[in-house]
Amino acid sequence: MKADDFSSLKLPSDLSTNLASLGYNKMTPIQERSLPPILAGEDVIAQAKTGSGKTAAFGLGILAHLQVKRFCVQSLVLCPTRELADQVAKEIRRLARTTHNVKVLTLCGGMPFGPQIGSLEHGAHIVVGTPGRVEEHVRKGTLKLNKLNILVLDEADRMLEMGFQEALDAIIANIPNKRQTLLFSATYPAQIQSIATRIMHKPVTVQVEATHDHSNIQQRFFKVESNEQRLTALRLLLLNYQAQSSVIFCNTKRDTQTLVEELRQHGFSALALHGDLEQKERDQTLVRFANKSVSILVATDVAARGLDIDNLDAVFNYHIARDLEVHVHRVGRTGRAGKKGIACSLYTQKESYKLSLLEEYIGREIQSDTLPPKKVLEKEIPTPSMATLQIDGGKKQKVRPGDILGALTAQKKIKSENVGKIHIFDYCAYVAVNRQDAKLALKIIAEGKLKGRSFRVRRIRG
Ligand code: AMP
Repeated sequence: MKADDFSSLKLPSDLSTNLASLGYNKMTPIQERSLPPILAGEDVIAQAKTGSGKTAAFGLGILAHLQVKRFCVQSLVLCPTRELADQVAKEIRRLARTTHNVKVLTLCGGMPFGPQIGSLEHGAHIVVGTPGRVEEHVRKGTLKLNKLNILVLDEADRMLEMGFQEALDAIIANIPNKRQTLLFSATYPAQIQSIATRIMHKPVTVQVEATHDHSNIQQRFFKVESNEQRLTALRLLLLNYQAQSSVIFCNTKRDTQTLVEELRQHGFSALALHGDLEQKERDQTLVRFANKSVSILVATDVAARGLDIDNLDAVFNYHIARDLEVHVHRVGRTGRAGKKGIACSLYTQKESYKLSLLEEYIGREIQSDTLPPKKVLEKEIPTPSMATLQIDGGKKQKVRPGDILGALTAQKKIKSENVGKIHIFDYCAYVAVNRQDAKLALKIIAEGKLKGRSFRVRRIRG
């Protein structure tokens, strides 16, 4: 029995037989990774595209948990488009063809409402639909979700892009908290992370992409004698590499907070990213890191999940991850898009067993490196190249990136190449400018107008 063999899963026998008859002999990589936690009833976030076999992954999860004799909606799959919903329903029906009497119903916009009510009255076990229409049925009381066990968000990134956030929230508000939530998404924008933290319970993350080529990443391991020495070792490495953007991973939220304080006391520009931040703080932290006005992010794995930053120069593991896959995932955040990356991991004697496990996992021996000499501590600490200004006007005031760039460069005192990333939120906007221009930029915005209005503006420091 191989790991990618469906028989390793202990699926109900009617499903197993059917899989063989469909010619599904081996699991696809996404199925191999997501089916065990899905069948165990855990919440799962899976990064998977169409064609990966994702539909069967959640479809089998739904069918394995289904109680055909209970006539109520037990599973709901939300999809961004009618086409996808139809495709998903078709695949679930195909998977269910040896299980008697499973009723799968699609509820999509653009279709007449009346017949859908009729079908709902007939009873359905599994509903597949688009958020707008499903929400309408929930609101009108024609679809009851109080017995739902499994909620699937398919192509969650596209649903959010299409503006379904409110409909999703309204639907989820009507689903029991005690349920299994599965989220499939091809990408991980911050919005996905935020929805996942709100609606999921200790989700397991599954990514097939983790096997991507790590050949341009230099992995180095440094042994430290004690926890006290860990900080010094990290400072040495940070000063040695002089990275513009790096993430330091910690295993706990507390560690991230302590470490940020210590690094800041030593003069580094660092911010913490962990699950307890308020949405606004989190947005601000991510913006300041992405626009290069903060060079170090100290993060927990969960919080860094939504981090959509491609060009990290370096990744540091303050502690080696508890889970090897998490380690590989952390390391894979650097060296993207053909760039060179570096990943440094610190460990003590007590943690050296993790190294042996890792050796086994990656199939080669790991050499421990020596830390840079102490005199490196005298090097100057790299300062971020940019500064962030926060403007108290955003989308709701119709402020656009072009308005801000235009205002800053109109008098030709600031060159457009010295203006960095601009992020616009509902009620505020952030613009990065070269450090040397920060004061001038502040004055220009404070004294000038955007969209014919004056807005309050301040520089975010620290
Ligand atoms: P999806 O990514 O869900 O759109 O699935 C892509 C296609 O792969 C569908 O046509 C499925 O029927 C098929 N498929 C899914 N899982 C397997 C498997 N384990 N073996 C062979 N085909 C599969």
